[in-house]
Amino acid sequence: MDDVELTSLREEHLLSSLVRARKPTGPKPTGKCLWCEEPMPDTEQRWCDAGCRDDYAAAEKNAPHLIP
Ligand SMILES: [Zn+2]
Repeated sequence: MDDVELTSLREEHLLSSLVRARKPTGPKPTGKCLWCEEPMPDTEQRWCDAGCRDDYAAAEKNAPHLIP
């Protein structure tokens, strides 16, 4: 493998990791749990626990009208 090949491989890898990092956009954190609207101490957090996150994800898929 020559240098050019190596560089393009590295760029490809960088690009795909950038795309992956940007991909799961989803809802923005609001300071409250997006499911039960419990105030969140950590403003970057979107759900108070995995249960809320799972319920939200399920509702998003099956019953978007249930989302607060
Ligand atoms: Zn919650």
